[in-house]
Amino acid sequence: MGQSRPRLEGKVALVTGAGSSGPGVGTGKAMAVLFAREGARVFLVDQVAERAAETLAMIHDEGGEAATFQADVSSSDGCRRMVEAAAAQFGRLDILVNNVGIAGWGTAVEVSEETWDRTMDVNLKSMMLAGKHAIPKMIEGGGGAIVNISSLAAWRASPPGALAYTVSKIGVVGLTTSMALAHAREGVRVNCILPGQINTPMAAVNLELSNEAMAARAQMTPLGTPGTAWDIAWAALFLASDEARWITGVALPVDAGTLCISGVYQP
Ligand code: NAD
Repeated sequence: MGQSRPRLEGKVALVTGAGSSGPGVGTGKAMAVLFAREGARVFLVDQVAERAAETLAMIHDEGGEAATFQADVSSSDGCRRMVEAAAAQFGRLDILVNNVGIAGWGTAVEVSEETWDRTMDVNLKSMMLAGKHAIPKMIEGGGGAIVNISSLAAWRASPPGALAYTVSKIGVVGLTTSMALAHAREGVRVNCILPGQINTPMAAVNLELSNEAMAARAQMTPLGTPGTAWDIAWAALFLASDEARWITGVALPVDAGTLCISGVYQP
């Protein structure tokens, strides 16, 4: 048996939110590192330059190829510049991972209009803007794959008081199916992932969860094991690769089986 080829050999991937908002590995960082391990040249976009630089160092330590770029993906100009820079750096663009997402807290009664608008801009509008600039570049190169990061919060309201987050994440599912249909005949596939409650810097820092709390929420899932950013990255790798050449428009939960739970009392 010959050695298997890297799964993203020859591909150029742009990952947004490629750093982590706290110590440890978030999904953007995990996807970028895994894609590089599988032979992709990875363009690491983050609004905080040092965070992308940390990911770059991880990739370089492993002998992979990557470059960083600072941009706020909620800005049209930022998205245009990041796509142009990626293509200038690596000559093409095959994969776009729209990973950036922020928590938008508050019920309808509590949430400010500023928080609502910012959450929609960062979590949802950014994906349209990135696609607007990335898709023509992908078509130029013969096609491509987009992976959007939604959340289980799209299909299950959780936690209470995250209205803007939930609405933005169900928006990502609609954006995914609409874009998948619009660009299918142009050779661009568009899928999304719905991560369950994984243990990442975002969970630890933003939700202020202790280690005990993170272990407890893992216990609530059917599989009962904690999920990490790497679990999301493996799913993204598959959807981004040519192995998924006949898959477009899907919303894939990666959630330890959480969606199987009906919520009814079980003795
Ligand atoms: P994270 O909070 O670690 O953020 C990743 C990076 O995004 C950070 O380095 C940050 O600087 C960057 N970023 C934030 N806003 C940006 C902007 N406007 N422009 C450019 N970069 C920006 O993220 P994470 O915990 O890895 O989560 C990533 C994605 O996964 C999000 O879309 C999130 O909603 C989703 N998700 C996470 C969980 C979880 O449990 N952590 C669960 C479901 C879904």
